[in-house]
Amino acid sequence: MTRQKAKSGTTTNKYKKLLPKFKEEFPFLKEANSQSLQEAVKWLDRAFKNFFRGIAKFPNFKSKKRTNSVSIPQHFCIEGNRVKIPKLKKPIRFIKHREIEGKVKSITITKTPTGKFYLNVLVDREIEPLPKTDKIVAIDVGLTTFCTLSSGEKIEKPKHLIESEKKLKKLQRQLSRKQVRSNRFIKLKRKIAKLHERIRNQRDDFLHKLSKRIIGDNQAVIVEDLNVKGMLKNSRLAKHIADASWRKFVQFLEYKAKLYGRGLIKVDPFYPSSKLCSRCGHKNEELKLSDRKWTCPKCGAEHDRDINATLNLLKEGLTRLKRVVGVDCPELMPVEGAVAPCEAGSPSLK
Ligand SMILES: [Zn+2]
Repeated sequence: MTRQKAKSGTTTNKYKKLLPKFKEEFPFLKEANSQSLQEAVKWLDRAFKNFFRGIAKFPNFKSKKRTNSVSIPQHFCIEGNRVKIPKLKKPIRFIKHREIEGKVKSITITKTPTGKFYLNVLVDREIEPLPKTDKIVAIDVGLTTFCTLSSGEKIEKPKHLIESEKKLKKLQRQLSRKQVRSNRFIKLKRKIAKLHERIRNQRDDFLHKLSKRIIGDNQAVIVEDLNVKGMLKNSRLAKHIADASWRKFVQFLEYKAKLYGRGLIKVDPFYPSSKLCSRCGHKNEELKLSDRKWTCPKCGAEHDRDINATLNLLKEGLTRLKRVVGVDCPELMPVEGAVAPCEAGSPSLK
């Protein structure tokens, strides 16, 4: 056990000992099962630790009325489409989206802002790694297109998602004209919450499908690491939204890579992937954000801005892979001269 782990365990236990006292002071706590209360204590402990480590904001107070999730680690029972929860007399019926595979570890019930309840089931199961392939791909984020792959493929955001985002903008403008807390204001607010939820579902669906396909097709994926401190402060809304969904996309790629035995390589976001010529390495300082296509003044290569950037990312990622020991995919280590510059298409590892 590491030192940090041991430490976190003792603080949580200290808080847990206070629970009986809390129950006396706040009798409503007795309505819940004690394991869930302990779980909440664990979450609080983690939230404070993250705050003191400087990686999260100060924990928000969650009132009894606004609590939106509860974790039940023990003494629950799932049978068919019913779940029995401790301290509740009757089992609760739910709609099963998919069959539960593997050993159930714990369940969490969450409530969305629009009042829908979800039952999340945590399971332990073995997953077969995908068969090996020799393809590597680099992905670059865009503002106009969602992302570009080094294979030359450009991926657009689905139309229905763009439509929903446009609609949200319109509703938010309407909201700013309404009198705060008036009936119309509240009604519109509810509508906006619903739309937010819809957008989140549409975006997650799109990102899950895309990341699954990319991880399935490639042995390693190279991305820009936007998850760097200070990058969160972005004044341009469009950029902010794009970054947020990019971060989520990288998260999805990361956990799917781990799940299926693939590698994910992150490249420093300050690496000037757009400005470098992927053929000769010349840095074009004059390149503007509006230039979608450009010609290298040194070697005369004609570039599509996004594809050129992915080819540079690919090169940088492969160099990193060779340099850094202990990356996610050591079987990819002996890569030599794998990139054919200026050629769109996944390079071979052989
Ligand atoms: Zn050039």
